[in-house]
Amino acid sequence: MTRPLPSSTRTRPPVVEQSGLLVCAPLRLEARAVRRGLHGTAATVVATGYGPRRAAARAATLGPLSFGALAIAGTGGGLADDLVPGDLVVASEVSDGQTVTPIPSAQLLAGELRRAGLRVRTGRVVTVDHLFRTDRDRLAAAGAIAVDMESAELIKAARGRPVAVVRAISDTPGRPLLRPAALAGGVAALRSLRAAGPALARWAAATGDRQVLLAGPRSFCAGVERAIEIVERILEQHGAPVYVRKQIVHNSHVVSSLEARGAIFVDELSEVPDGARVVFSAHGVSPTVRAEADRRGLSTVDATCPLVAKVHAEARRFATDGYLVALIGHAGHEEVEGTLGEAPDSVALVETTEDVGRLRPADPSKVAYLMQTTLAMDEAAGIAGALRERFPDARAPGSDDICYATTNRQRAARGVAAESDLVLVAGSANSSNSVRLVETAQRAGTPAHLIDGPSDIELGWLAGVSTIGLTAGASAPPAVVEDIVAALGGLGSVEVSERVITTENIRFSLPKEVRQS
Ligand code: SF4
Repeated sequence: MTRPLPSSTRTRPPVVEQSGLLVCAPLRLEARAVRRGLHGTAATVVATGYGPRRAAARAATLGPLSFGALAIAGTGGGLADDLVPGDLVVASEVSDGQTVTPIPSAQLLAGELRRAGLRVRTGRVVTVDHLFRTDRDRLAAAGAIAVDMESAELIKAARGRPVAVVRAISDTPGRPLLRPAALAGGVAALRSLRAAGPALARWAAATGDRQVLLAGPRSFCAGVERAIEIVERILEQHGAPVYVRKQIVHNSHVVSSLEARGAIFVDELSEVPDGARVVFSAHGVSPTVRAEADRRGLSTVDATCPLVAKVHAEARRFATDGYLVALIGHAGHEEVEGTLGEAPDSVALVETTEDVGRLRPADPSKVAYLMQTTLAMDEAAGIAGALRERFPDARAPGSDDICYATTNRQRAARGVAAESDLVLVAGSANSSNSVRLVETAQRAGTPAHLIDGPSDIELGWLAGVSTIGLTAGASAPPAVVEDIVAALGGLGSVEVSERVITTENIRFSLPKEVRQS
């Protein structure tokens, strides 16, 4: 049960000894709202008093207690124009104007609150002496998104323990304090504080010391690095905009970072203005797309990964030699669409062993098979086996179509899965090779989840988990892995070690259009 504790405006003796979640809420009203949200949990809620002086005095009495995690929850003033009363701000750092205290697990809590249906922003919260006399515009210009009067003092009670700061916005630049609308803003803020309670309890339950096993290799492959570099070089050499047909690689971070620099991603060439410069993505395109670009007079640069281009060439060769080509892959994936387009009358998509039985080659002795480069090795091997069983003369690709990067990442993921309670795979939902890493870890018997970043981690996954395997798909930036490790470090100490099965030193040369003269 949630235990109410008396409000305090003076320093009091310690009021509670426990190992769970301690929530500090400055005002009684705020404490009551949070307490209601935490009803049925073992959390303890303390009303710590209004203002920095009382907060500092109270923090000094709370520090020695044996709680396991500290949350500071209350209302606050919004500094960003897009905040509205009732929005929650989860502090990624708290400043008193002199020092800045980072809060690494902010993204984890923010994600949990968003999944609960709440509007949440993360950013800097500044603690000030006076809410009315403070130059809020100056704080906003310096990057803060919310202001309060206690967090920077109360946070000192954490003393190295996991800490979270949640401020429910009661007033904003558009709806300032001391206006009639401020009352409604306060009510909305208290309602949000109450709604935040269950997520705070899950955050506290997820705290603890852990081991993280990094799979190696992980993250960017040579084809992805080349594709990104092509767009970057065009932006440098010709300036924005540069059009890119489809996502250059399947990762939201890469796409938004290039968009911010002037890349415009389109689904079809019809969206590209006549005469513009357009890049074909790493997944490749069919000959009809190239033909349309030529007809339109577009200036094209091909970022197709050379290993995808190799599969295209194999498809053309087998089709020219009169073979029916069974392409093992996933319907709708851009790479598959590009390869099918090389010889539409001669290439048939095979997604399952059942599809093998549906093939009707004109000459059963002239069947060949190819693979999408990012398939799961074991799954593809099963379908290839079914093809060879039905068509004993079936021709296989000259060398493995599943690329080195996919193979290495799957083997590494399987390795860490065997040692872990949970596997997290950094990657976007439309990234085939990232999804295959999740399946690979799951097939090894370990729960595994795909996450685009720390905020996708459901805190319930972490309960009772002491060892986390961590890897990243070939399109996921290394920085995302670092962000995930940092966020987990906000829940307790994290010991990071690496399990490297091989090292990669493959580099692909850039197309002549972007090479420096
Ligand atoms: S995953 Fe393989 S095929 Fe795809 S871009 Fe990377 S190296 Fe090329």
